[in-house]
Amino acid sequence: MTDKLYYRDIDKKEFNAEILEAVKEKKGWRVVLDKTCFFPEGGGQPADKGWLKDIPVTDVQKEGDLIYHYLAENPGTGAAAGRIDFDHRRDFMQQHTGQHILSGALWKIGGYKTLAVHMGEDYTTIEIEAPDIPEKDVIAVEEMANRVINRDLQVSIVETGHSELHRFPLRRPTDLKGKIRLVRIGDFDCAACGGLHFKSTREVELVKAIGVEKIRGNARIAWKIGGRAFADYREKDKIITALRTVLGTKEDMFAQKAQELQEEIVTYKRKCNQLENRLAETAAQNLFEGQQDPGAGFRVITVSWQDEDANLTKKILKNLINREKVVVCAVNVTADRVQWSIGCSADVDFSFDGIKDDLLSIIDGRGGGRFPLWQGAGAAPDRAGDFLKKFRELHCS
Ligand SMILES: [Zn+2]
Repeated sequence: MTDKLYYRDIDKKEFNAEILEAVKEKKGWRVVLDKTCFFPEGGGQPADKGWLKDIPVTDVQKEGDLIYHYLAENPGTGAAAGRIDFDHRRDFMQQHTGQHILSGALWKIGGYKTLAVHMGEDYTTIEIEAPDIPEKDVIAVEEMANRVINRDLQVSIVETGHSELHRFPLRRPTDLKGKIRLVRIGDFDCAACGGLHFKSTREVELVKAIGVEKIRGNARIAWKIGGRAFADYREKDKIITALRTVLGTKEDMFAQKAQELQEEIVTYKRKCNQLENRLAETAAQNLFEGQQDPGAGFRVITVSWQDEDANLTKKILKNLINREKVVVCAVNVTADRVQWSIGCSADVDFSFDGIKDDLLSIIDGRGGGRFPLWQGAGAAPDRAGDFLKKFRELHCS
């Protein structure tokens, strides 16, 4: 049986113990000590972190009366000094003590039963036996919990047996057997729990609800508790200050301002699209008029662009091949590659397959397609001019 020092003194950060066993397992060296300050994972509270003989302790689990510490290296045998990461412990004691107060307040405000608790690295959630919870109840719970915190109520541990449970005002019944550990928060709350808690509610400092979501048909409320609530306030304040500058307005106008900007974007996008269509029509018309039928039975149009917008080039090409008796070959040259497109009108007897290899080899290109449009890219943008010249030669001879 491991002597659980954490129950006797929750403030103890360092201890000396004897290593009774160290066994290599898949997830590391499983170490049993005669006594420990390391709290094992349980009741929604994560395991303590820390060091044993300066080797990081990565996990702590409870198996019957034994506590298993998992280490990355073999600590050997004999005496060992242990040290827990107290910032981590303190954070989770804040989460755990805060959760008891919140569960008590949920019960008192609306008869909301706590079904499940999760203490994550970022926030703590409480799932309640109700499909939803009105905002006014969440606010009332938050206010009641913060009043309890400020009342500096004593948090005490009582160990009792099942037959004595009726003497205590339990928030929820327990089916635990043997010695039962009760956590009492002054006259406010009483629940069976094996976790670690502060001695006074004041140390929880502050609780703040940050959202409600639905899970398994129940409402689940997310909370920032203790130091995390202050950090969250600071972070949100930073974001608001930045937004004030960006949006040029006070926070009570943020939503309206964002809505106005969204509407402006929609209007500009529509205008931009109209202008692009007109530009494509004009550009296509100029290209079309610039080329006459060289005798092949269709006009051969070649065009070279530099870093042109892909949407615009697509529209110009579409406009051209929607005309009669046209074959078009276009390149769009960027710093390290060349995009090529070849297309034709539906009334032209044109085959790309016959000229594909001759053309693509010039620009070290790849790609393909099917009648009436073929597209791809090449790795030699400096030879884009030769590519167009070759295309003309093949059709204007
Ligand atoms: Zn607890």
